[in-house]
Amino acid sequence: MNWRPLSSKELQAAEHYVRLAMAQAELAAQTGNAPFGAVIVDALGEVVAAEHNRVREALDPSAHAEINAIRVACRRMQMPTLEGYLLYFNKEPCPMCLVCAIEAKLSAVYYGDPDDGSPPVALPAAEIVRRAAVDHRVQVHGGILAEETRHHREDLLRRYSS
Ligand SMILES: [Zn+2]
Repeated sequence: MNWRPLSSKELQAAEHYVRLAMAQAELAAQTGNAPFGAVIVDALGEVVAAEHNRVREALDPSAHAEINAIRVACRRMQMPTLEGYLLYFNKEPCPMCLVCAIEAKLSAVYYGDPDDGSPPVALPAAEIVRRAAVDHRVQVHGGILAEETRHHREDLLRRYSS
């Protein structure tokens, strides 16, 4: 779901950072966690946080990649919010993470393949953003390397879950 079409330059950048998120997903799978990764980038394109899902290692159901990345970026920047920052993820974010992105005032969220209805609350990212009763509106751009992110996760699940 796009609020506006991406320019080819924006799409190229989005694909680059979604691939970094996929590399984080690989780290997650290698450490026994679910294959999800997220990166947060500043307005100049510098990565300020690259994190992965740590639910199993941290015994923390909220330790999703996006939440971990938001925490790391806020601590690093010494700010409780991340206005002007962009988040990239290798799948459509779950409602918990998207609401956290809204709370963090991130400027945009870019993600890979759309949600397949598997999380406990299947609510599309675009719908959550539409319903957000805040002045700040995060842009949501889905479907970045959608086939590639989905196949990559399926491959990680095959290789690392036993
Ligand atoms: Zn999540």
